[in-house]
Amino acid sequence: MVSRVIPVECFDLVIFGGTGDLARRKILPGLFRRFCSGQMPPEAQIIGAARSELDDDGYRQFVREAVQEFGGTHYEKDQLDQFLQRLGYETVDAKGEGGWEALKGRLRDKVVRAFYFSVGPSLFGDIAERLRSFGLANEDSRIVLEKPFGHDLETARALNATLAQHFDETQIYRIDHYLGKETVQNLMAVRFGNMLFEPLWNAQYVDHIQITVAETVSVEGRGGYYDKSGAMRDMVQNHLMQLLCLIAMEPPAKFDPDAVRDEKLKVIRALDPVEPHHVVRGQYSADEKQAGYRVHAENPRSRTESFVAMKVHVSNWRWAGTPFYLRTGKQLRARASEIAVVFKDAPHSIFGEEAGRHRNVLSIRLQPNEGMTLGVTIKEPGPGGMRLIDVPLDMSFAEALGPDGEDAPDAYERLIMDVIRGNQTLFMRGDEVEAAWAWTDPIIASWVARNDVPKPYDAGSSGPEDALMLMHRDGRRWREIKA
Ligand code: NAP
Repeated sequence: MVSRVIPVECFDLVIFGGTGDLARRKILPGLFRRFCSGQMPPEAQIIGAARSELDDDGYRQFVREAVQEFGGTHYEKDQLDQFLQRLGYETVDAKGEGGWEALKGRLRDKVVRAFYFSVGPSLFGDIAERLRSFGLANEDSRIVLEKPFGHDLETARALNATLAQHFDETQIYRIDHYLGKETVQNLMAVRFGNMLFEPLWNAQYVDHIQITVAETVSVEGRGGYYDKSGAMRDMVQNHLMQLLCLIAMEPPAKFDPDAVRDEKLKVIRALDPVEPHHVVRGQYSADEKQAGYRVHAENPRSRTESFVAMKVHVSNWRWAGTPFYLRTGKQLRARASEIAVVFKDAPHSIFGEEAGRHRNVLSIRLQPNEGMTLGVTIKEPGPGGMRLIDVPLDMSFAEALGPDGEDAPDAYERLIMDVIRGNQTLFMRGDEVEAAWAWTDPIIASWVARNDVPKPYDAGSSGPEDALMLMHRDGRRWREIKA
């Protein structure tokens, strides 16, 4: 299977925060890979914009180093030189008046105009306003916003209102890079492109669903930011919620941005409020090798969670009674993200109890090794009688994604190409973000009201003991966190 590359229209892309960490590690190397693949047209233009005093050549050198560090190795030197010719830079202060006219002078008519806000959210409003007042944005321009989108419902609403003064909702692309992953998009293809799964995709056949996003990194180096946020705001409100929506939503009438997002919104609105005893918060402790969360967060009394596990119910006909277990955290055993749909036991075993009881599990793996496996029960080969074993039907995508998977677009590349195509399906709509905050806010408020202290857990573990108990109490267990 070889992936096809379909070039996008010619574009001018301005990256506000073009000298920042995200631009350096993800956006610019990603654009370079799209350039090498032929998806980015050779006449397209990328302009970095930030306060640093750089000229075009200085920025090209910055991008050269970024590509050398993060752009992989599957390219010729000529390709990098040609790519760098497509780059420019303008010194612009989001809060000031300088640089905007010069930036405007670089933009061309009759090509797609996109503005990537790769800056802290406190600058979103300033940039949106200036794009309009200096006449850089037209009716067809697109703006791309990084997370976090708000700190709670009130701030998200205020931000949506500010953006709406300057841009139509059809021009606003709120990024959740989890939605750009190959497997996440494949989840929709598997669910809605096959007859096989959808009839079983409900409370009658599914015992429960687990969504795990486990990281091995600590918060060291970004503790100041993280401590004001925590796992609930940083991961659950956006990434895990989006994955939950895609798993739980009804089939949209068509694969069109509003049809898909309407269905996702219905899932969020169908979420029950979470009972306090259905949530476990954790904070990683110090060990002999490194300091604990509170040192990394530079806050010795911090009560912010670096781990959260919870049991959630979607109250509708399809899912009544089927729990969704969500878990995410830092400093865990392995970097692994997985959605597991655990089907119920067969109602009766004709092979007798000694043959063993087996459950089908559809595992949708987001990282590492994106792919899906379906655990199917078969007879153990050989003359040993009718003993049953589980074997995985493996749908790994690595092979389909080119040599070493390196030429495969990562989530950011895919999403930026979608922005240029004008396809909002994989971006969050304003009402979706607000609904997710409306569900999250009371959970956080109840922790504050109770002065809740997160449970300690060891670095390299699967999280606090209480998270295991959350499932054990229901006669279930978490799937192993493994890379
Ligand atoms: P960063 O490394 O701190 O970069 C911030 C960028 O904004 C720099 O280019 C900075 O350049 C520019 N900037 C700051 N103040 C400015 C102003 N007044 N006017 C114009 N430019 C200004 O941050 P980052 O890690 O790249 O993150 C950017 C955004 O992406 C944030 O919202 C973050 O939450 C989000 N995000 C980042 C990651 C990641 O992996 N890094 C992942 C997900 C989301 P100057 O100082 O030269 O102005």
